[in-house]
Amino acid sequence: MVTAADIHQEACMEKISKSAGLYLHIPFCKKKCPYCDFYSITDLSLIQPFVRALKKEMELSGNTTLHFDTIYIGGGTPSVLGPEEIFLLIDTARGQFDFLPDVEITLEINPGTVNMSGLKAYRDAGINRISIGVQSFETLNLEFLGRIHSERDAALAVNWARDAGFDNIGLDLIYGIPGQSPEAWLQDLKRAVEFEPEHFSCYMLTYEPGTPMEKKRQQCFFQPMSDRVEATLFETANDFLTTRGYEHYEISNFAKTELPSARSRHNQKYWSYSPYIGLGPSAHSFIEPERRWNCRSVKQYVDRIDSGKRPVEGNEVLTRQQQMMEWIYLGLRTGEGIHMNRFNKKFDVDFRSIYKGVITDLTEKGYIKTEENRCCLTRQGMLFLDSIASMLIHQHTENISHR
Ligand code: SF4
Repeated sequence: MVTAADIHQEACMEKISKSAGLYLHIPFCKKKCPYCDFYSITDLSLIQPFVRALKKEMELSGNTTLHFDTIYIGGGTPSVLGPEEIFLLIDTARGQFDFLPDVEITLEINPGTVNMSGLKAYRDAGINRISIGVQSFETLNLEFLGRIHSERDAALAVNWARDAGFDNIGLDLIYGIPGQSPEAWLQDLKRAVEFEPEHFSCYMLTYEPGTPMEKKRQQCFFQPMSDRVEATLFETANDFLTTRGYEHYEISNFAKTELPSARSRHNQKYWSYSPYIGLGPSAHSFIEPERRWNCRSVKQYVDRIDSGKRPVEGNEVLTRQQQMMEWIYLGLRTGEGIHMNRFNKKFDVDFRSIYKGVITDLTEKGYIKTEENRCCLTRQGMLFLDSIASMLIHQHTENISHR
């Protein structure tokens, strides 16, 4: 049955997918965490030339017909920038791009880099959503992750953010830390919900190629968690947060059910195939059907902009098949799943008949459900997103090659 909430959510998604998002990548961190493969450097002396260059990149990129309703300042650790620099970036963005009223402006912060007055000043600078990289409230976990902050710093940062007037706060947590039991993860979650944030991102620890943590894993410094326990922890988060009033709206993301604005409007653009422009070193942009990305090195980025050039390093134009595959993969990540009618209309195909075999098989196994217009993963299916997406892609390739 289609409920009023479904209709409201559908209208929100329609609105989100029509407007664009602006992402600003701040490539600085006080210290690199050993598990992280996002691009950032620890030489903070480059902040000033970088901010100047990012402002210039906005001026070089503003010539677009897109209308924006989000700015996401991510990194790296954007909170190594002071409120004046954040204000300058928001102000420049507003001068260069066409924004709709009621823009969601998110700032990622690291609890080891903020204080009460700084948070107030970020709010005065125009930030209206804060994403706090807590990762865990357990000291041993924070040590294993090589974080620069303590459990106390994290708790203070969340309280200060609330006292500073933020009414849209997200906490990032990491689970799947070697040796972590489902009970210990549940304790971490219980501690986190005491702060009543509007949003949670719960990421499973992954070992990215080239990171110091992956090297340690290879050298058997620790025993990574088994798939079975990881699955239990995933279910623990799902069970606990959904009974505490949070909706599991994307594989790693939960938002307060009664507050539609608690979902990350900006991140929903990535999953709904909406346009976005990413500025700053290593940032990616997507305006259908083209994806483009900037060079990674801060020095190279600043040099290119200083010589009047755009810092774009590469691009790819997605074929129709690639677009279909991405649409499916991204749609399956979300609680709403793939909107089959929209898919059919967009690609002039019949979703149900192209993927009939796989859908029937996976529905029988309890991994996929199709309701009304939607095809989405069950909770069990979410554990196998990559394999399920591969099965659909395989069937797609077979069907197309036999035509
Ligand atoms: S603070 Fe964030 S971006 Fe920086 S190294 Fe750690 S996880 Fe990566």
